Amino acid sequence: MERTLVIIKPGTLQRGLAGEIISRFEKRGLKLVAMKMKQLDQKILDVHYAHLKEKPFFPWLCDGMMAAPVILCCWEGFEAVKVVREMAGATNARKAVPGTIRGDYSMSAQENIVHTSDSLENAAIELDRFFSPEDYCDYPSPLNSYLYAPDEK
Ligand code: UDP
Ligand code: MG
Repeated sequence: MERTLVIIKPGTLQRGLAGEIISRFEKRGLKLVAMKMKQLDQKILDVHYAHLKEKPFFPWLCDGMMAAPVILCCWEGFEAVKVVREMAGATNARKAVPGTIRGDYSMSAQENIVHTSDSLENAAIELDRFFSPEDYCDYPSPLNSYLYAPDEK
């Protein structure tokens, strides 16, 4: 099973939408294997958003990501990286399709509810950035035979 990182952004927490967003991933059948609340700082955002450092909106993006704590979640599932990314929808929420998280809860290219890892390789790097091995919880998945076919693992 793949693992991917979701960051519930500060604005989502402030708007009281964190539970609804977590619920969407739960209802899809993804398994929550690690979760914590954290106040991000500039140092970690310089690394996490290094690909955007030269963009004019970078300072605003960082301000938004430090405006309140975030909720860091690791979701596990078959092909979870792509599934979670598609559930989030387009980066610019005004272009995100209704039914996606951004398409249902946001009007902004910046304040777009969640971060999701964009590849399996980056998911591993990002999960290591925010979680330690002891943060992961190993617990039974008794419904897996109802969620998946035998070859979906
Ligand atoms: N962002 C923004 N303006 C843009 C593009 C991105 O404010 O034109 C912000 C937005 O919050 C986005 C984050 O920067 O989620 C990271 O950008 P990325 O291109 O990695 O998009 P994502 O992977 O989050 O869809
Ligand atoms: Mg990205």
